[in-house]
Amino acid sequence: MDSPFTAAQFRVLPGVPKAIRMFNDLGLPVIIVSNQPGIAKGHFEATLLPEFERLLNAASQSPGAHIDATYYCLHHPDAVVANLRKRCTCRKPGIGTLMRAARDLKLALSDSYMVGDGLTDIEAGSRAGCRTIFVGRWKCEHCQFIRPRGLRPTFVAKNLIEAARLIQQDFQPNTRAISRPSLEHAFQSCC
Ligand SMILES: [Zn+2]
Repeated sequence: MDSPFTAAQFRVLPGVPKAIRMFNDLGLPVIIVSNQPGIAKGHFEATLLPEFERLLNAASQSPGAHIDATYYCLHHPDAVVANLRKRCTCRKPGIGTLMRAARDLKLALSDSYMVGDGLTDIEAGSRAGCRTIFVGRWKCEHCQFIRPRGLRPTFVAKNLIEAARLIQQDFQPNTRAISRPSLEHAFQSCC
């Protein structure tokens, strides 16, 4: 699955709005942290990102969900657009956007979850001190990538709904000290 280059290609996966609503109901701020090099690479115009955001917000509204903030890294080291050609600290696995979000929304990264379908998400989340959830099917090649880096996701979830359920189980303020030790068990090691 590739990144969309047009509004018509943009799809919100089933269950995503409901999962966001579950985060909202837990009182967790929902923040999107995304590498979006499409403008830098000349794939689409800058006006398309707000349009993607509008489509996601519109889809989220049906179960009454909302996204609290969105942070993009627009840079790419090989950008064709000169002012976006940069080795930045905000492109994941850099943690610039996570640090900025934490500062702006006054969040403790150690009490935050980084959820993503890419190993760069897991790497960025780990480096920022978050607990991490890999969404998708865990494969041996993932282990081979992350092990030398001393990383592993806290959880692996099939999809965002499953990730939300894991966080729901984990995020119970009154029983947090008790529920924390069970965290590691959800990681399914393949090799
Ligand atoms: Zn950047």
